[in-house]
This record gives sequence, C-alpha cells and structure tokens, in this order.
Amino acid sequence: MNVNWRFTSASRNSYAALSAACENQGFILDPVRAPADDVTCYSINSINAGTLLDEIAEAGCITIAGGPHATACYRDVARVADYVIVGEGEYALPALLSGIEEGGSPRVPGVATKDGLVPQDRTVLLDAYPPFSRVRGYIEISRGCPFGCSYCQTPRIFGHAMRHRTIDSIVRWSRSYRDLRFVTPNALAYGSDGSEPRLEKIEGLFRRLSGNIYFGTFPSEVRPEFVSDEALDLITTYCANSKIHFGAQSGSDQVLDRLGRGHSIGDVVDAVELCRDHGLTPIVDFIVGFPFETDDDQGSTCDLIAWVADRGQVHVHRFIPLPGTPLAGRSARPLLPRTERLLGKLSLKGRLTGSWSDPETRFNRRKRGNDI
Ligand code: SF4
Repeated sequence: MNVNWRFTSASRNSYAALSAACENQGFILDPVRAPADDVTCYSINSINAGTLLDEIAEAGCITIAGGPHATACYRDVARVADYVIVGEGEYALPALLSGIEEGGSPRVPGVATKDGLVPQDRTVLLDAYPPFSRVRGYIEISRGCPFGCSYCQTPRIFGHAMRHRTIDSIVRWSRSYRDLRFVTPNALAYGSDGSEPRLEKIEGLFRRLSGNIYFGTFPSEVRPEFVSDEALDLITTYCANSKIHFGAQSGSDQVLDRLGRGHSIGDVVDAVELCRDHGLTPIVDFIVGFPFETDDDQGSTCDLIAWVADRGQVHVHRFIPLPGTPLAGRSARPLLPRTERLLGKLSLKGRLTGSWSDPETRFNRRKRGNDI
C-alpha cells in the first residue's frame, strides 16, 4: 500500500515525527504536493484549512486528516476526509494504516469518521517514539502545557499535563546533529510540571549534550516569568544562542488576565532587562486585535512594543480565533491608526517582524501556491 504525506512547510516537524512512528510499523510516508494513491495524509491548520479541505474533497484516494484544525473541528473535517486523527497521531496513524491495509473500515482510538469518534484511550509517551527518522526534524523534548491561554490550541490538543522526553532519549537522538534545536511549549519548564522551573533538570540535560545547544529560541520559546538570572546563567554557560524568545502577547494587565496568561507586564519587563544584563537579545511575541481589547489596552500594547523594540526584537501577529479554543468564533478588533503606524515604522527599521494584516487577506494570498 502506498502511503503519502501532503507536504506543507507548516507541518514539517509533524511530518518528521509521524513519518518516524509509521516507519516503525513498516509504512513509509512519501511527500507529495497533491493527493495520490493509495492513501494521502494531511496535517491541517487554520490558515491552510480552506485550501486543503477543498483538495481533500476532490481527492480520488483514501484521505486521512490530522493536525490542530482537524482535531478541533473533527466532525466537519470527517464530512470530506475518510478518517480524522483527533489529537496525537503517533499511535493512531500507524494503527489506522495497518487497519486500512487489512481491509474493512478500521475503528481506531483517536480516529473519527462520518460515523463518529472512537475516543482516545492513551496519551503518547515521548520516549516511546523517535522524534524523527529518515525525515529530519527537531527533537521534541516536552509536550502539553498547564496554562490555558484562551487563544491557544496547544493544551486543548496535548492536554494540561507536561510530559518530557528523558535525558537519555534526547542524548541518543541529538547525536545526529551538530546544532541542537528542540520543540517544547516552554523550554525552561523542561523536567518540571510546567508551573515552576526545575533548573537542575535542565543543567542535567545540558551536561550530557555535545554540539551547539540552542535553548529558549527558535523553534521553541519560554514564558517570561521563567526567565531568571539563574536560568540565563545556564544558557550563557552551556548554549550557543544569542537570543531568547518569549511571549508578552499584550501590554495590558487587564487583557493578560482575560487571556489567562498567568503572568504580568512586570514579568515581561523584568525578562527583557534580564536578557540584556546577560548579553542576550530578547525576542518578544505580541498579538494585536484581541476581541475585548479597548483602545487604551491597544495603546498600552503599542507602548510596550516600542519599549521592547528599543531593547530587542518584536514579533507581532494579528489575533486569529482558533477553533477549539475559548476565543473560537470571536472576531479580531480593528487596529488603531497609531498601531498600524508603529508596526509599519518598526518593521521598516528592522526591529519588528510578523503578520498583522487581516487573516483573511493572508489566507487568500497563501491560497495561490501549493506550498502552504
Ligand atoms: S500560549 Fe504557551 S503558555 Fe499559553 S497555553 Fe499555549 S503553550 Fe501554554
């Protein structure tokens, strides 16, 4: 049976992890840019959902859809795809492929069809699966998040309990790379329950790794209140990165409270200053246009963005109401002229990156290409 993976840039790391899990069961996922026989697998997010769901609806092969959008909207997606993986795919996808190969209509935990969902019956232990194999990817060291930021799909897909790959497993897989980069919702939570850092676990990991360690920077980030003198001492001692990436999201404490972020503006300011004290460049994420943001809230966000831009780099994107989150279905509020001017000016100066245009515009632009 030929099994294909509909390649998209956004799902590159999922492709690496799921390809490795499937390889263990004898299935090779060949990358394709269009559906192909016998089976084509998709990972769908909210930006590419329109394009990929149209493609699936027209496909002449068996289709399997997963990813954040498919997990959140599995009933809708099951109207066009033959099978929908709801949540983690490392166990469900190979089990489903085996069932398809054997014939009939397999019923696999964590998989939905037009006839309904078979509930998930396990969570994935990271050590039980390779992070990559013939398709290279970053090493996922932690999964799950105890926070519940109301715009974020992560805890809704992977749960609130943090799970970690063991140091032995990370060391084993790190031998394939000279530059070591990791996937985690909060690098400084490695080894902990996600609410308080356990720096001794992180140091234990660093001591065992050889190569250039990039930690708390692309493709992972950290939470601002986890940034401390001790944590940054560890990073400057053992790691190669010159930047630390964390989320502020808003310059208004009132908005942070409503989002359930679990930190304050003061934590963001402290983290920026600590990074500079340690010779590291802070890269700070913001989201503009939350539905409940007042003009004053957005003005406070502009003030904080300008302050951070003087000391580091800013990454901005427009609020997108992701399905499966408490803010699903809400609309982004418009940007103030002052906000538009500030973001444009900082972008021209090279202090700010991101995409703050209307998500609909962004979606339509992407829809013209097949590398989505
Ligand atoms: S934004 Fe980060 S901290 Fe908040 S729920 Fe998502 S992964 Fe967790």
